[in-house]
Amino acid sequence: MPLTQDQQDEINELRSTTTQTLRATAPGMEKHLYTAYPVLDHGFVRVIDYMGDDNAITQAARVSYGKGTKAVSNDEGLIRYLMRHWHSTPFEMCELKLHVKLPVFVARQWIRHRTANVNEYSARYSILDREFYIPAPEHLAAQSVVNNQGRGEALSGEEAERVLRYLRDDAMRCYDHYEEMISQDDQQGLARELARMNLPANVYTQWYWKVDLHNLLHFLRLRADAHAQYEIRVYADEICKLVADWVPYAYKAFEDYRMGGATLSSTALDCVRRMIKGEEVTQENSGMSKGEWREFQALL
Ligand SMILES: Cc1cc2nc3c(=O)[nH]c(=O)nc-3n(C[C@H](O)[C@H](O)[C@H](O)COP(=O)(O)OP(=O)(O)OC[C@H]3O[C@@H](n4cnc5c(N)ncnc54)[C@H](O)[C@@H]3O)c2cc1C
Repeated sequence: MPLTQDQQDEINELRSTTTQTLRATAPGMEKHLYTAYPVLDHGFVRVIDYMGDDNAITQAARVSYGKGTKAVSNDEGLIRYLMRHWHSTPFEMCELKLHVKLPVFVARQWIRHRTANVNEYSARYSILDREFYIPAPEHLAAQSVVNNQGRGEALSGEEAERVLRYLRDDAMRCYDHYEEMISQDDQQGLARELARMNLPANVYTQWYWKVDLHNLLHFLRLRADAHAQYEIRVYADEICKLVADWVPYAYKAFEDYRMGGATLSSTALDCVRRMIKGEEVTQENSGMSKGEWREFQALL
């Protein structure tokens, strides 16, 4: 279970207390507030706070015309127009604050997204829990033979068992030594900020992560993508579900233009035009490299 009883009690308490507000709220997001959604074996994502909704986007785009008399379908149309034309600042009017529990090696990828505000659990001040990410057997995969940055078939048999044993045993041994080094029973005890050096990259950390919707969608575009590592993708997938309920028009437009859409180079666009005219276009006469052509074919 990813949450302690204290944390669960706090969530129950928060969800049982309501306050009146004049601010706009998004009913789709209210139902998720504070609830922790499990990710990986010990991780979670939960919404701590949010600001804005689909209306906040259109309102900013119209520079405070307010809701006025615009029909709902116009709001959706405007959001699609903004997304289509990369008019991104209205999306920055919405904000999301998440509490995330994640393995350190996932946090290292995540923190590369610089356009967020972060507060991480301090392992200088506090003691990290004995919690490590151990992949489920189906995710214990071999190195990909086609992609240096990816994984291939799942390991099986004795090799899978040995790898799992190493991951578990090494993590436990490192944690035992961590605990022993910081202990102040009959010794001075090593500082926590130094002892943590001994912990492996699959140990869990936690942070609050606040980001505006524009940059969140950029994060999701990159990390909910098939090219992203599975262990960060599952977090992005969970966040996608929250965003879909929070700002349904914006999320639908994002799915359509960004997640499901594609960008073509002028060379690729020229090939499409030639194909439509009935010309036989091959890699050799396309003007594209082999790799580019492969990606173009996959896209089509
Ligand atoms: C599949 C995948 C593989 C990757 N592999 C590697 C890897 O092997 N090695 C590696 O180091 N990284 C890797 N990355 C990380 C990647 O290079 C980016 O650092 C990461 O995706 C964050 O993207 P970003 O900079 O666009 O996001 P953010 O930091 O959120 O920035 C959003 C946008 O703001 C602007 N911006 C932000 N800060 C600056 C700045 N200082 N200067 C100019 N513009 C700025 C840029 O337009 C940027 O696109 C990988 C990412 C993915 C998704």
